[in-house]
Amino acid sequence: MEDIITGDLPDVPALTPEAAAAYCKDVIGAEAAKDAANEKAYGILVSYKDFKGQTDLNLQNTPFYDGPIDDMLTFVYMDNSLTLDAASGAATLMYSGVVFRRTAEQDTLYKRPFVSILGINAHPEVAEYLIQGGAVKRTFMHEMLHSVGIGTSWPSPAGCGNKELCMATVLKEAGTKVHEPIPYTPAGAPALCKADAIYREKCAASEWCTARNGDMPLLVESEIPATKEAPNFGSNCGHWPESQLPAEIISTMAEGKKLLAGPRLFLTAVTIGALEDLGFQVNYDSKEIDDFDLINSRLRELDQV
Ligand SMILES: [Zn+2]
Repeated sequence: MEDIITGDLPDVPALTPEAAAAYCKDVIGAEAAKDAANEKAYGILVSYKDFKGQTDLNLQNTPFYDGPIDDMLTFVYMDNSLTLDAASGAATLMYSGVVFRRTAEQDTLYKRPFVSILGINAHPEVAEYLIQGGAVKRTFMHEMLHSVGIGTSWPSPAGCGNKELCMATVLKEAGTKVHEPIPYTPAGAPALCKADAIYREKCAASEWCTARNGDMPLLVESEIPATKEAPNFGSNCGHWPESQLPAEIISTMAEGKKLLAGPRLFLTAVTIGALEDLGFQVNYDSKEIDDFDLINSRLRELDQV
């Protein structure tokens, strides 16, 4: 990650239980923050309370970091509430999310995150797959990309990745046959979002991409089977569509929904562009970045397509 995101971020002063309420306020609103600070049952990870493993991290027992935070503090833990579907081999390998963002005073335009969580599926077969299958590094990177804001801090200040509109559209279309592609660059934007601009340039120069996608803009995932009760927002609205950028690190399958499909997590310049949209100084020359056309050759190898 250090080779991808360069440049420093504004430091955050010590994070203590007392200070946490103020940051909660920024994320969940003043009233809810008061509740969160008072309510012992509430974790600091308010928006993630549905995950069992996270109820252990709360205002009372979280090992708060009492020094200034330079860039990002991520709580990493094994989550034994995650399962593996024996029949299909499907599992969520890891999950992650933003807990606290810098305030407007600390980071005026972008309010970039500074605390995140990262849970790892503790099922023995998943652990074996991650380690033996070689997926651990890129799966971890996928989650860290969410931790710094991809799919979790959308929309960017320029409106890139409009999550609210996306979620509303997915809910409206849930269970119907209609599907309206949801562009990453908002309608009426004065300029293309950086990730979109890079995607279009790379796609136009790539035979497999033009054959698959024509001249469509960069989209956000909105096609994962959804019902109104289960809109799958873990996947929808926070990733690139697997159908558009198969095997890309921010495409849905990176979640590990198909455990046995093997690691396919290519980090393309499209995702680096999304980091730039979120205000990070990025390095397009990083050796971590894969060639756009690797997606095609690797897909052929894995799927005989
Ligand atoms: Zn993800």
